[in-house]
This record gives sequence, C-alpha cells and structure tokens, in this order.
Amino acid sequence: MGKFPEADAQIMKIVVCRKCKSRNKKSLKKCRKCGSVFLRPKRKDIKAKK
Ligand SMILES: [Zn+2]
Repeated sequence: MGKFPEADAQIMKIVVCRKCKSRNKKSLKKCRKCGSVFLRPKRKDIKAKK
C-alpha cells in the first residue's frame, strides 16, 4: 500500500500502453492515443528507492 489510499485506488484503475506508454483507463480496450491493444496494468508494488 502506498501512502495515499486514493492514489492506490486510482492506480488500480489505470493501464499503461506498451507502445506509447500513455496511461489509459482500465475499462478501455485500446489505447486512446495510439490505438494499441497492448496494455499492461500499472505495477502497484514498486518499491521506492532508498
Ligand atoms: Zn498507446
């Protein structure tokens, strides 16, 4: 869990385009920017450097 529960909730709703790396809503089937169907969920468990 991150510091902000709201932010975690938003992250769960976001997918990132593998092609152009733009963020899209998870409900979308295609990237709204380039039309690519290769979307991956945004990693939630990224550890902060330190
Ligand atoms: Zn894209």
